Amino acid sequence: MKSHYRVVVIGGGVVGASVLYHLAREGWSDVALLERSVLTAGSSWHAAGGFHALNADPNIAQLQAYTIDLFEEIQAESGQDIGLHMTGGLTLAGTPDRWEWLQSAYRVFQSIGIEDCRLVTPEEAGALCPIMSTEGILGGMWADREGYIDTTGTVHAYAGAAKKRGASVFEHTKVEALEQTPDGWRVITDKGVVTCEHVVNAAGLWAKQVGRMAGLDLPLSPLKHHYLISDTIPALEGLDFEVPMTVDLEGFTYMRQDQKGILLGIYEIDHEHWAMDGAPWDYGMELFQEDTDRIEKELTLGFERYPALQEVGVKTWVNGAFTFSPDGNPLVGPVPGKPGYWVACGVMAGFLQGGGVGKSLAEWIIHGEPEADVWGMDIARYGAFASNRQYIRETTGQFYTRRFVMTYPNEQLPAGRPLKTAPAHDAMTAAGAHWGVSWGLEVPLYFAPKGFVETPSLHRSNAHDIVGDECRATREKAGLIDISGFSRFEVTGPNARAWLDRMMASKLPARGRARLAPMLGHDGRLKGDLTVFNWDDQTFWITGSYYLRAWHMRWFDDHMQDGVTVRDIADAVVGFAVAGPKSRAIVQSICDADIGGLPFMGCGVFDLGLIRAHVGRISVTGELGYEIHCDAANHIALRRALLAAGADHGVQEVGFNALLSLRLEKSFGIWSAEFTQGYTPRQTGMDRWIDWSKDFIGKDAGLAERDGPDPAQMLVTLQVDAAGADASGYEPVWQDGEKVGFVTSGGYGHTTGKSLAMALVKPQAAAIGTALSVHIVGQERAATVIAASPYDPAGRAMRA
Ligand SMILES: Cc1cc2nc3c(=O)[nH]c(=O)nc-3n(C[C@H](O)[C@H](O)[C@H](O)COP(=O)(O)OP(=O)(O)OC[C@H]3O[C@@H](n4cnc5c(N)ncnc54)[C@H](O)[C@@H]3O)c2cc1C
Repeated sequence: MKSHYRVVVIGGGVVGASVLYHLAREGWSDVALLERSVLTAGSSWHAAGGFHALNADPNIAQLQAYTIDLFEEIQAESGQDIGLHMTGGLTLAGTPDRWEWLQSAYRVFQSIGIEDCRLVTPEEAGALCPIMSTEGILGGMWADREGYIDTTGTVHAYAGAAKKRGASVFEHTKVEALEQTPDGWRVITDKGVVTCEHVVNAAGLWAKQVGRMAGLDLPLSPLKHHYLISDTIPALEGLDFEVPMTVDLEGFTYMRQDQKGILLGIYEIDHEHWAMDGAPWDYGMELFQEDTDRIEKELTLGFERYPALQEVGVKTWVNGAFTFSPDGNPLVGPVPGKPGYWVACGVMAGFLQGGGVGKSLAEWIIHGEPEADVWGMDIARYGAFASNRQYIRETTGQFYTRRFVMTYPNEQLPAGRPLKTAPAHDAMTAAGAHWGVSWGLEVPLYFAPKGFVETPSLHRSNAHDIVGDECRATREKAGLIDISGFSRFEVTGPNARAWLDRMMASKLPARGRARLAPMLGHDGRLKGDLTVFNWDDQTFWITGSYYLRAWHMRWFDDHMQDGVTVRDIADAVVGFAVAGPKSRAIVQSICDADIGGLPFMGCGVFDLGLIRAHVGRISVTGELGYEIHCDAANHIALRRALLAAGADHGVQEVGFNALLSLRLEKSFGIWSAEFTQGYTPRQTGMDRWIDWSKDFIGKDAGLAERDGPDPAQMLVTLQVDAAGADASGYEPVWQDGEKVGFVTSGGYGHTTGKSLAMALVKPQAAAIGTALSVHIVGQERAATVIAASPYDPAGRAMRA
């Protein structure tokens, strides 16, 4: 072992080995992997080795597809057999809703370019997997590129291929401590000290401890997991093909062939955490005693699905552990406040996702950004709140138990809630608020009569009319919405203006003004769809999406300069927005100053009743409206004052579901839908806010896009001939049978009476009036490109 490497990867499981391989593949060969035991000695050696295409997050599904494509490459490159069995795979649906969902999922796969799938009937599924009972199966999805690999061989193939490219691997080398240095890290091992610029925590079951070595409390925990391997099944001996990797969602099991028997894995309803602080250091390549009582229900379903199991014995039981994050997706990326410390842990399906994780992290370390939009696995999607032990226990447990349980788009899950609540939460609950959650904060979705229960549905739910009423109230009178769920950063200091000017691609607002401000990455892709407020030329605020708080703060910190202080004030400052034609009269009635004279996009500090508030005349709804920010201690009083002032004007409390519908009628994009870090300004129309005359981060790449060829896709608004269900996101858009794009978001416009969607489509399909079609919940629906902002296109209402 040398005394210095550019990168030290801690952990020789599939993830660490993949990170090492991808660093070497990108040309960084001065890299070393340290493994306390032997390669695979964590979760990796006893994994079932299955891989399949499905993931609820399309970006992660794409990275999974990348991993699957990589298998043959690393086998060839390393010369190490990985025991690849590309059997094809089946995902089964056993309820009408699941079957509808699977048909939608199939269309989403088409959208993201995973084309080697098809829907199959129960009979076809039975023929593809003859040892399976098709009892209760309504349909399935077949994917060509699913199957299983030999897990030990695969880890050695990643490591072997990395070594051939100059990387080093040291087994029996345990990392015992980490120390931050001015230019990197000192890695203290039982074999001596090594320094490096970057250190990667790929310690799998021990990731929690390796996090603590750097003062981090990572939100993850191991859970136990069973599979069994059966004795020989006579029916398999007679087949001249291997049965496919089969996932029975309603049965909580996955199955693959193992020699002439089968391997049956179980997602356990009655889950069991293990070693929440990380595996003990003396934990070797061990297994736990099987606990068949705990998994009896799933086992019974499995034995019914594969009746041959009732005839043959169980050859082997495996009860092992692997690590989960709260949402089940990996934790990857640079850790805020710890330059040079990277995580690649919480990878629940390392053989399926390891390639994508390794590729993204290597790109991130070397180029500063990964190529793909990896928000779904970015460590910055969590904040400190997620390190709480009970939060981890509840959320990881919920994910594990529900791994194969269908979650409806309008369904609210209980784990880790309620955690953060705005002060007026209880008063809003009493007023009928139904709550969703954003980054641990309860946010009102809509206000319903007492006793109302929303039915989980893939279609418009029974809350549709309630939301419709809230939309109409806002358009006709005034809607009051709790906007505590916005991010808020305060920027101060002598260099505040200069710093902001470089961070934002837009002009900065003048004193007493606010401005929409796109922020770009160095690669010219989007980094934020923010609003900047200039209160007094000394104090600026940046507001945006609440759940991006840590992500944006990491970006700000990475680009910090002397003479600037950026403070995240979103816990201390909360607020309400009032929107609608009556909103001016309402706010003016409790304000002595001329708040009504505030121009569109103006902002200032006003006394509203007893409350001193920061007010911006901003419109997300397309109506005349005010965002009112106040100290958390004043939240209840502000609500009371606005409700009292609005009573004569018909003010009504509304939730975020209404806001989403209202903004869609204005074709106002939102983050994670129309705007993501994978998209560019021109493609999304964000370029209209850019000030090309100044310097800002991402300008060179932005200019190249501006002056280059037309973007491959453009953002358009669609009117959809929908019935009972609206588009939600990632549905494919077709023109005469050719796939020309995909939906970014959709919903029902209650004022326009139209089902609307926004979509990224090829330029050939972007002209107003173009006839297209969209798959909604698996059904093809006619759609037409319409002019942006079907409601009040001239923007008269919001500028009134
Ligand atoms: C029963 C079971 C079945 C599974 N089936 C599948 C499947 O079919 N498909 C799939 O994709 N996934 C499956 N998994 C999950 C899969 O095993 C994990 O996702 C994967 O192994 C995680 O790999 P990793 O590299 O992150 O962690 P690990 O495999 O845990 O590797 C971490 C490594 O880091 C080393 N290490 C830790 N601390 C230190 C230190 N301080 N110094 C040096 N080295 C250190 C450890 O010794 C270990 O080798 C299954 C898991 C289980 C338990």
